[in-house]
Amino acid sequence: MAPQGLVVDRSPHAVGPGRCQVCGAKVVVENSDEIVIKNAILRVDGASGRVTAKCSRCKAWVAVPLTYTG
Ligand SMILES: [Zn+2]
Repeated sequence: MAPQGLVVDRSPHAVGPGRCQVCGAKVVVENSDEIVIKNAILRVDGASGRVTAKCSRCKAWVAVPLTYTG
């Protein structure tokens, strides 16, 4: 059964720096058993399912290691 909803993509190519490229604010905090997105505003690209989160400091969109599967 395929997972549905937001899926954490742990493949190496998918995990970005977890920081905003504009201001350097930490957006994604990875612990051993959880990933915390420090801002709840998420945007999903409809075609690819790639997810971005809005930086709370400078409002730039930051790629996060999540994929939306519907
Ligand atoms: Zn920022």
